Amino acid sequence: MTPRSTPRFDVDLDALDANLAVVGATVMPAATMLIVKDDAYGHGIAAVVPRALARGVRWIGAFDVPTARAVRDAVAGDVRVFVWMLPSSDDIAEALALDLELGVGDAELLDDVARVARDRATPARVHLKIDTGLHRNGFRPEDWGAAVARARQLEREGAIRVVGVWSHIAEASDRDDDDARAAFDVALAQTHRAGLTPELRHLAASSASFARPEFRYDLVRVGAFAYGVPPAGGPTAEALGIRPVGRLVGTVTAIDGDDAQIDMGSLHGVPSTLGGLISVGTGDGPRRLLSVGLTQSRIDGRALAPGDEVVVFGGGAGGAENATALAERIGTIGEEIVTRVSPRVPRNTLP
Ligand SMILES: *Cc1c(COP(=O)(O)O)cnc(C)c1O
Repeated sequence: MTPRSTPRFDVDLDALDANLAVVGATVMPAATMLIVKDDAYGHGIAAVVPRALARGVRWIGAFDVPTARAVRDAVAGDVRVFVWMLPSSDDIAEALALDLELGVGDAELLDDVARVARDRATPARVHLKIDTGLHRNGFRPEDWGAAVARARQLEREGAIRVVGVWSHIAEASDRDDDDARAAFDVALAQTHRAGLTPELRHLAASSASFARPEFRYDLVRVGAFAYGVPPAGGPTAEALGIRPVGRLVGTVTAIDGDDAQIDMGSLHGVPSTLGGLISVGTGDGPRRLLSVGLTQSRIDGRALAPGDEVVVFGGGAGGAENATALAERIGTIGEEIVTRVSPRVPRNTLP
């Protein structure tokens, strides 16, 4: 294989396969919705979505309509695509044209969806969102009774069909998550009393879908674990059985005394605050990252030579750490490390 130019972001689709297999086996009989917001957490929708479908994933969670459009462009075929950010009537119209399923968490949006859908031959497929405590949109519990009554009326009129009820939880404390689940179950009971028959209930993201079987319901929405990003402060990747899909790779450009310079910096997405805090991977084992500049960084250069490749984070041998290990050093989460890799860094799909 010819050497690839750097900086580059390797996307290991075999690792994605393996992670999806672990997710699927862990959450079954619940189904998996692969979350692909932020261009598949920086890994690239065009590569990730076809591979996920080939591995049996039948649900993609796309956040907004532009992301869903990229999903539809990447694959033709039998996949259900869910969006939950619909800021305008134009978004709703395009969502329906793209045959998306719509997460709806407020009364105005529900009526807007019904209005746009009435002009079409088929009802809009809606997943009603209950706010179970995160306060990131969703019908408030005190408004849920009116919401499901209104949704039932719109179903009767043929404008919508309620196929799902869902919520999002913090996954930071078991106690808060338990409270959220109790609120979710109350909302589900009200939903059925209103005469709605949603076939899909979904609540958990990566962490709860692994750790809390009772949170799986019919469908889990998994992003981080599919990309091999474990939770900050939680179980390790090894314990979860997942491995990094993305790997950020640079090259030694010069040796300067004991230091080596590499061709990657904060403009490529490496947080400058990581200087002095992490090790990068090399063919000769881990080396300390000394400082991060705009387009160049310095590492401990022992036994390195110009042309040697350096893995800033991700999989592979050589002592590179994973995105979550980096994130923990600077008080953020692994998702933030992978999604901030600049779009200007070419994605290189492996194998
Ligand atoms: C991002 C997101 C997820 C996936 O979360 P992970 O922790 O990355 O698995 C699930 N649901 C919603 C609504 C999200 O925004």
